[in-house]
Amino acid sequence: MTASSMEELVSLCKRRGFIFQSNDIYGGIKGLYDYGPMGVELKNNLKQAWWKSMVYERDDIEGLDASILSAPVVLQQSGHEDTFTDPLVDCKNCKSRWRADQLSNNTCPECKSEDLTDPRPFNLMFKTAIGPVDDGSSFAYLRPETCQQIFTNFKNITDSTSRVVPFGIAQIGKAFRNEITPRNFIFRVREFEQMELEFFVKPGSDDEWHQYWVEKRIEWWESQGVSKKNLHSIDVEKSELSHYSKATVDIMYEFPHGKEELEGIANRTDFDLGSHTKNQKDFDITSVVKKNEHSTTKLGVQNLEEKTSYIPYVIEPSAGVDRGLLAILNEAYTLENLENGNTRTVLKLKPHLSPIKAAVIPLKKNNEQIVAKAKVIKNELQNLGMGRVILENSGNIGKNYRRHDEIGTPICITVDFETLDDDSVTVRDRDSMNQERVSSTELNQFYQKYFH
Ligand code: ATP
Repeated sequence: MTASSMEELVSLCKRRGFIFQSNDIYGGIKGLYDYGPMGVELKNNLKQAWWKSMVYERDDIEGLDASILSAPVVLQQSGHEDTFTDPLVDCKNCKSRWRADQLSNNTCPECKSEDLTDPRPFNLMFKTAIGPVDDGSSFAYLRPETCQQIFTNFKNITDSTSRVVPFGIAQIGKAFRNEITPRNFIFRVREFEQMELEFFVKPGSDDEWHQYWVEKRIEWWESQGVSKKNLHSIDVEKSELSHYSKATVDIMYEFPHGKEELEGIANRTDFDLGSHTKNQKDFDITSVVKKNEHSTTKLGVQNLEEKTSYIPYVIEPSAGVDRGLLAILNEAYTLENLENGNTRTVLKLKPHLSPIKAAVIPLKKNNEQIVAKAKVIKNELQNLGMGRVILENSGNIGKNYRRHDEIGTPICITVDFETLDDDSVTVRDRDSMNQERVSSTELNQFYQKYFH
């Protein structure tokens, strides 16, 4: 099941501590959100799942965590200074501003006026001053995508790891875009996170690798609980392709507000390394690149058979963490009618993504022996390293079940008087609501099964 509206998700996220409007107590800033106690766990788990599948489970990808502040020259050479723009229009009637390509019938969504200015390009990059004097002469951009520093580190990584093509470099981190109209909760924001892989291949093998990564990425989203029927891959029209792309496949998801991009997988050809390399004329660069008189390093690799060097092509699967989280929350959101006529909201997250892996609940909060036993169990499960286990020391059992259903905790473990006699606990399963008695000695194994 999925949520019936974005409002349902927004409300759950605030109520249960997943996501808050940023700067809330001062009225908020549009397009910025904060991840609360549950949100930060879910987000970390999603990023970890991506990292595991990209870096740990393969032997052809290395990781990177590069700086956010970027030298202007990097984004000049990459073409961002010239072309990373959206078409901006002003409504002459109510003075609001819009992205021209998102308007229907060229009408202002606010006041319905058709009296709009002609569109003009608006650069989406944020700038900040570097150093103590803010006279405009020394500044940096906040990176608008994570990948440029992967390209500038290409030689550092090949030299330090002896990787040869085909291989990839993966990075997760913040990116910033001064979106004209941020909207739809965390779907379009001004500060977000990306999970990007740049996979370097031999020219000629690029189409095959492109197809490979499209399939892999769809499979991965499915393994995170996103149902196939809500995922669609579309070939981006030639006229819509970014300046660096030979072909792009967008993975679209049926978000509560409509079908939109979750991840883009682009064949970026030799544009990136070709743009950032020294001595461009020494290589047979196929894409149209800006002349580079600043780079200090050659970014070509050896073709050992032909004893020549060439600029590798790049296949880039680029996914948004925030959009992924929204899709996952939407997929997990379930409203169930119970036999007794009540309804319950339950977040049927895959256990590896759940913010809390298990809640240990002492039935009597003022019974020292019960509380002490609950603490021992909590610590034991915590030490297994599957993620956060929580000791629930407040509220009654019914309230605890409701809360843990809504945040997607796979199991609740209750410690009661019987536990003190026979060393067994009651384990309640989130999805079936079945309760069973499990002996303390088998609990570790019982718990770990949820994550395999
Ligand atoms: P859109 O067309 O929706 O603006 P894009 O094509 O500009 O997206 P890319 O540059 O391909 O996006 O960025 C890769 C991924 O980063 C996107 O698929 C998306 O998941 C995420 N992303 C891009 N812009 C934003 C944003 N403003 N807010 C949240 N996530 C974003």
